[in-house]
Amino acid sequence: MVELEQTRLMLENLGLSQAAITLDSHLDYAARSEITYLEFINRLLKDEADFRRKRSEETRLKLSRLPHKKTLDEFDFSFQPSLDERQIRELATLSFIHRQENVILLGPPGVGKSHIAIGLAVEAIRQGLSVYFVSMDKLLDDLRRANNEGRLHHRWKVYQRPGLLVIDEIGYSQLDRVSGNLFFQLICSRYEKGSMILTSNKGFGEWGDLMGDVPLATAILDRLLHHAHVVNIRRQSYRIKARVKASGSVIPQQFQGDMSNGVVNS
Ligand code: ADP
Ligand code: MG
Repeated sequence: MVELEQTRLMLENLGLSQAAITLDSHLDYAARSEITYLEFINRLLKDEADFRRKRSEETRLKLSRLPHKKTLDEFDFSFQPSLDERQIRELATLSFIHRQENVILLGPPGVGKSHIAIGLAVEAIRQGLSVYFVSMDKLLDDLRRANNEGRLHHRWKVYQRPGLLVIDEIGYSQLDRVSGNLFFQLICSRYEKGSMILTSNKGFGEWGDLMGDVPLATAILDRLLHHAHVVNIRRQSYRIKARVKASGSVIPQQFQGDMSNGVVNS
């Protein structure tokens, strides 16, 4: 049938590749079920739109460099009563991203900071936003290398462009002077322009030591906290709970005592 081939070709040329592929089956269905012309075109275009949305979501998920896909539905809020589930559900509406605000998740290792950060990032990707996830160490390595090689200008774009930037695991390594300044520049470049989610095992009072420079840490926190939602998680590690449950063993010595001092590395 010449018309069928022509139609398929036109759909392809118009960039409606999924509609071109599914045209046959939609025509079959229309003939069998006697749907209206309007229903037919509606079904064909909906197929194309669904396909595109899914493909775009997959691409954004890949580009986000999320270490794994965790959702907020997989998070057991009953295990972490220090966490306000309503606050997290409110954050999951993503209005903070539209207002260019930050989310800062604080707490000792294993309490679910990365899980919540990733869960919010996945939600942002689902809602059509671009996300980039990076650990603090990797971020600073990358910026330092780019700085040394004179291509910092080029790398900034990676961290400035996404609608949401997630910086995970702030606090595990001390920053030297150059790293501190690069981090400050990054925070300034997104200030009131783009949202960030940060996670840290160190309370803000320890950031001066972490940066090795109290005025610099103050300047960074000043910008970060100007429009921010701070979430403090204080309770026990979920990793340890899982381990104890599996082995029936007691909690290892190094994890006993005060979990909220933020000095235990995960
Ligand atoms: P953190 O970033 O605070 O060190 P993670 O988010 O990496 O902790 O959590 C450690 C592991 O435990 C992850 O696999 C995470 O999915 C899981 N986890 C932590 N808290 C919870 C929770 N309340 N419900 C379900 N899984 C959790
Ligand atoms: Mg983590």
